[in-house]
Amino acid sequence: MKYQFDAVIIGGGAAGLLCAIAAKRKNPAVKIAVIEKNDRVGKKLLSTGNGRCNLTNLHTGADKYCGSFQKQSRAIFEKWNTDRLLGFFGELGLLTVADSEGRVYPHCKQAAAVLDVLRYGCETRGVRIFCGETIKSVKRQSGFTVTTAENVFVSDKLVVATGSKAAPKLGGNGSAADYLKNFGHTFLPFSPALCPVRVQSGVLKPLKGLRAAAAVSLLRGETAIKTERGEVQFNEDNLSGICVFNLSLFTQPKDTLSVDLLPDISGRELFNLLQKNQKLFSALPADNLLTGIFQKRVAQAVMKSAGAGDFSKNCAGLSEKQLKEIAHTAKSLCFAVAGNDGFDRAQACKGGVSGSEIDEHTMQSKRVRNLFICGEAVDLCGECGGYNLHFAFASGIIAGENL
Ligand SMILES: Cc1cc2nc3c(=O)[nH]c(=O)nc-3n(C[C@H](O)[C@H](O)[C@H](O)COP(=O)(O)OP(=O)(O)OC[C@H]3O[C@@H](n4cnc5c(N)ncnc54)[C@H](O)[C@@H]3O)c2cc1C
Repeated sequence: MKYQFDAVIIGGGAAGLLCAIAAKRKNPAVKIAVIEKNDRVGKKLLSTGNGRCNLTNLHTGADKYCGSFQKQSRAIFEKWNTDRLLGFFGELGLLTVADSEGRVYPHCKQAAAVLDVLRYGCETRGVRIFCGETIKSVKRQSGFTVTTAENVFVSDKLVVATGSKAAPKLGGNGSAADYLKNFGHTFLPFSPALCPVRVQSGVLKPLKGLRAAAAVSLLRGETAIKTERGEVQFNEDNLSGICVFNLSLFTQPKDTLSVDLLPDISGRELFNLLQKNQKLFSALPADNLLTGIFQKRVAQAVMKSAGAGDFSKNCAGLSEKQLKEIAHTAKSLCFAVAGNDGFDRAQACKGGVSGSEIDEHTMQSKRVRNLFICGEAVDLCGECGGYNLHFAFASGIIAGENL
């Protein structure tokens, strides 16, 4: 069947749905279609925030993001700051609540509540939603023509809101790259972000399954690129936890993750503690030196990594140099970065359309008139905490208001 619309939005996710609602809110007469390849819209939204949907953050600002659109994104977060975005959701009927770290959730802690108000917001405003559509081609003639296996959609304006390759089971794919490269855009390849970081270390196996409150630094050579505090989880071949996810935005092969297992105690204080423990546990095997400080497996991993893994000695037999090395290692347990954990386990992606090719005030392409790009298809990626959804929503609204 052939349809004519004022604007067609490809992608019924966070950005696409907000784009449709904002366009209709501004001009109820505008004819809008959303084309979604899944059998329903917003599948990924339902999985966000462990099913609770952390939809924004009270501390949203450009400093929480990286990518070539980062500088321009300031204008977006100034215009659509957290208060205003929550006001928009309030108008749609969503009641929200923030936790102590500023993460905002629906009050009922159900991602379905967010999707429900978006679906209803589209329905009541007369947005036409076409699900289960497989796009065959996207062409620009006088306007745009999107041909799917079932239908042909002709429109004056086109919005690409197809997201990124993160989480393919929820709809993630790289189709934005195909469409936008065809329109002459520069597309920085998608790579997984906000995911576990694969590491190599002789002590990873013994630590498997443990969690520790720590400060983790990303080292490039001798330089600390970024430090994050939080809970680290030690897995078979990777480190995970929100602090590691945030560092995954920046990791490169040959980097090191350095885990400070006692971030609130200085190296000097720890050394003094070790001297005290050495006296207390002098007659016990050396792996008891860290008794009362770490659980056994962590203690053994630190000792081994510090080159003091000969537990046939007792604590009294450890030299001052060894105590210093053990203190140093506990504050900097190093893991060589071997890569990231792939798109399946990524919550977002680095890469997307180069920021310089998008007008941040309208989200319109600077290359092709009447083409708009929003959400994760843009080269901007935020930290964990609601920042990626905030950008998807805000950029979707801006595109919608300018259709
Ligand atoms: C498990 C998980 C948890 C997350 N939790 C959070 C969180 O709590 N807070 C947060 O801020 N962010 C979170 N994120 C990230 C967040 O979900 C994304 O950044 C956000 O959804 C991006 O919005 P988008 O509209 O650009 O893309 P999406 O929401 O992915 O929407 C894109 C839509 O386009 C459709 N599509 C793609 N290609 C085509 C095509 N060719 N034709 C038709 N349709 C197409 C897709 O099926 C999809 O429905 C999480 C991500 C994952 C995977």
